[in-house]
Amino acid sequence: MAGLHGQQQREIAHIARDPFDPLFEAETFVAALRARRTTVKRALLDQTLISGVGNIYADESLWRARLHGERPAAGLTRPAARILLGHVTEVMREALGQGGTSFDALYVDVNGDSGYFDRSLAVYGQEGRPCPRCGTPVRRDSFMNRSSYTCPRCQPRPRTGRW
Ligand SMILES: [Zn+2]
Repeated sequence: MAGLHGQQQREIAHIARDPFDPLFEAETFVAALRARRTTVKRALLDQTLISGVGNIYADESLWRARLHGERPAAGLTRPAARILLGHVTEVMREALGQGGTSFDALYVDVNGDSGYFDRSLAVYGQEGRPCPRCGTPVRRDSFMNRSSYTCPRCQPRPRTGRW
């Protein structure tokens, strides 16, 4: 990559489409996700695979899909990957419907104690609060200099990190 700069580098990076792009193809995404040798959450945050998914969208979508983000992407069945994509799209659509162009940006701009986020977020930023589905306290783990929020009961951690 030495000697490549600016525009040229961006073109090579190949930023993926977001789920609302009319040219976004669900089955292409499902196949690409399952081909990744990484964890599900890292794959969701990978802008060369799908655009627009930040840390909050990822955590909320994984909770809805009852998947732990540390599970290997390659271990997802095709139906499970489709269901996950459905939740990602739904979470993004809801956030957009609430007036935000970017849920993550909105979160940073607004006081985390606001009623909006208490109502809207199941697990993100909710450490120690009951999971809305089962009541188990939400768990926070560090993740790439940020945090991951999960319900330990709805989203059991994978037994090993192998894939
Ligand atoms: Zn739960």
